[in-house]
Amino acid sequence: MTDNCLFCKIIAGEIPGKFIYEDDRVVVLQDIAPQAPHHYLVVPRKHIRTTLELTAEDNELVGHVYQVASRLAEKHGFAKEGFRVVNNCNEGAGQTVWHVHFHLLGGRTMTWPPG
Ligand code: AMP
Ligand code: ZN
Repeated sequence: MTDNCLFCKIIAGEIPGKFIYEDDRVVVLQDIAPQAPHHYLVVPRKHIRTTLELTAEDNELVGHVYQVASRLAEKHGFAKEGFRVVNNCNEGAGQTVWHVHFHLLGGRTMTWPPG
């Protein structure tokens, strides 16, 4: 738990948040401002500020994030049509919450390149 971190506070139950999935390593939130019919945030319980702070110790955790994202895409029925897992690192890429998280987006056609 890191002071003044939104996601740490949600994980600790200090700020309300609805988890659509949780286990010992991650929680998954419905994004408050969805950018697709399905927009979830896979959030490690461990406070890591950005992708740049990930270390070899976190390799298994990041693999787990992708496993969870894939299983949720299947469970919610948008895996086959296609989905995106996105991590924004630092302001220029659009990061606004300083606790590493992975957007799982699906349920619509995605364009490339991303904005
Ligand atoms: P990023 O801009 O990549 O750091 O992603 C942060 C995401 O968190 C944005 O998509 C926000 O809409 C989302 N968000 C902000 N506050 C909340 C909240 N209280 N519950 C769920 N999602 C949130
Ligand atoms: Zn945090």
